[in-house]
Amino acid sequence: MKIIAIGRNYAAHAKELNNEIPTKPVIFLKPDTAILKDNKPFYIPDFSSDIHFELEVVLKICKEGKHVAEKFAANYYDEIGLGIDFTARDIQNLHKEKGLPWELAKAFDNSAVISGFLPKRDFTDLYNLSFELKVNEQTRQNGHTSNLLFSFEKIIAFVSQYITLKKGDLIFTGTPEGVGQVKQGDHLAAWLEGKQLLDFHVK
Ligand code: MG
Repeated sequence: MKIIAIGRNYAAHAKELNNEIPTKPVIFLKPDTAILKDNKPFYIPDFSSDIHFELEVVLKICKEGKHVAEKFAANYYDEIGLGIDFTARDIQNLHKEKGLPWELAKAFDNSAVISGFLPKRDFTDLYNLSFELKVNEQTRQNGHTSNLLFSFEKIIAFVSQYITLKKGDLIFTGTPEGVGQVKQGDHLAAWLEGKQLLDFHVK
């Protein structure tokens, strides 16, 4: 399986990092070795001194899709959950300056934290979902899918023009504003529509 992630999909987050609002989705990949699940602790890697949390809604792809039309794209994911797109912001900034790819900042081991997944039919309106991240019991990110620049269907249609989606693939749909650095000892907890889906520690 693969993980496809969308950058700059909430305007307020694009602005907080001084990025332009994109006219097409910004895509990057993480390998399956990036997955960290079951609320296992995240260990800060030695190569970065500025690891940021990015809370995101994650889609789970349920069938193979190539050149999927936007109007059929909703049939290609059946479950949603939450994830943290851990980012080595110091490395990313350096690579952005030099126009280099982001993999070292985004695709490292354990950089894709995922929760358990829930059937999307459990939610009445996928574009009216709120999701929240607390670090050490303080709210740091409070997102709302009504603010997505590119909808889940637009993302699936766009990505599948280039990359075949397969059952079990995950799509990280982008983070809202409020990203910040994690430190050893932090406790991260996240909720989707009031249901707690993540609860883990940084070591
Ligand atoms: Mg992200």
